[in-house]
Amino acid sequence: MNPQKRRAIFERLRAANPAPKSELAHASPFELLVAVVLSAQATDKGVNKATARLFPVAKTPAAMVKLGSDGLIPYISSIGLFNTKAKNVIALSRILVDEHGGKVPRDRDALEKLPGVGRKTANVVLNVAFGEPTIAVDTHIFRVANRTRLAPGKDPLEVEERLLKFTPDEFKPNAHHWLILHGRYVCVARTPKCPQCVIVDLCEYNAKTRALPGTPALEALPLLPPVRRRKA
Ligand code: SF4
Repeated sequence: MNPQKRRAIFERLRAANPAPKSELAHASPFELLVAVVLSAQATDKGVNKATARLFPVAKTPAAMVKLGSDGLIPYISSIGLFNTKAKNVIALSRILVDEHGGKVPRDRDALEKLPGVGRKTANVVLNVAFGEPTIAVDTHIFRVANRTRLAPGKDPLEVEERLLKFTPDEFKPNAHHWLILHGRYVCVARTPKCPQCVIVDLCEYNAKTRALPGTPALEALPLLPPVRRRKA
């Protein structure tokens, strides 16, 4: 994909959603960190439901340590892998208290040393809590980057490196949100909603879907490119 197309894609996504926000409810870097750790293989909606009850009783690392694993589990038992996640949240809270003055560090290495925190979680925290131009690649962004050919790669790290290399600086602070929301609501896994997609004429996916009868395509879009189906 050429640079002009990449820029146009981000301009369209920005025009459609000028100030994108994380869908994980949080009021501090610590709450965000906990929410992201809880969100692995879970929906943001499910995590928000749990944290709406949890954060009023434990919104700081010290309070979370005090709550302890047994105290935390009842709040998060509706979330998958809750036993492991509870252990990780308590352990990372203890490290934040003991080694970081009760604060979430603005530092990738320090973040990735916390239990349950990998590169993706560190990227989300650095980007959303601290405004760093990182791009966390989850399943949605991996799919969108590959389908569109915006930043194709064989694994999340390769996609992340290419997105960082190819995304113009002005779009980097919000690129994560635009791409994740696009993947979550439009370029969905099973049947992407190409007829309603604001970048349909820029996307290089070769198996775009057609409008279903009674499903309006966006108005004022440029003419659709010819639809080519993948051979079975
Ligand atoms: S045109 Fe279709 S495949 Fe391409 S980004 Fe939009 S929804 Fe995804």
